[in-house]
Amino acid sequence: MNDEHRGGCLCGAVRFSTRGPLREVIACHCSQCRKQTGLYYAATNVARDRIEVEGADNVTWYRASDTASRGFCRVCGSALFWQGDGEDYVSVMAGAFEQPSGLSIGYHIFCADKGDFYEIDDGKPRYPQGCTA
Ligand SMILES: [Zn+2]
Ligand SMILES: [Zn+2]
Repeated sequence: MNDEHRGGCLCGAVRFSTRGPLREVIACHCSQCRKQTGLYYAATNVARDRIEVEGADNVTWYRASDTASRGFCRVCGSALFWQGDGEDYVSVMAGAFEQPSGLSIGYHIFCADKGDFYEIDDGKPRYPQGCTA
């Protein structure tokens, strides 16, 4: 079974491919994710040794907090990656994957901080803050 997934940014300057199964998508509604994306952050994750990034020079890393970096394409601005300090996994934006992605949302976090212009009504678990599940 070929469990490879491909994706990239809007302009194509950054491309990636992953090997192996991907985690369910976690939607983060915190204020940082809201500001960066204009909506919320929906990302799967993958072990760092199972993702290959083409055009990594075009990824700019921005630190919104003391514990993680956010990677985006410096050419087109697409949000792509979230990397917690010292973690072996990198989060990858679900929307960056080619369709069909085979991904689905597992649950929502930081719902207490979500934007006031939309509802979360997909029936998936909602946590007011983070969730370590
Ligand atoms: Zn780009
Ligand atoms: Zn967030």
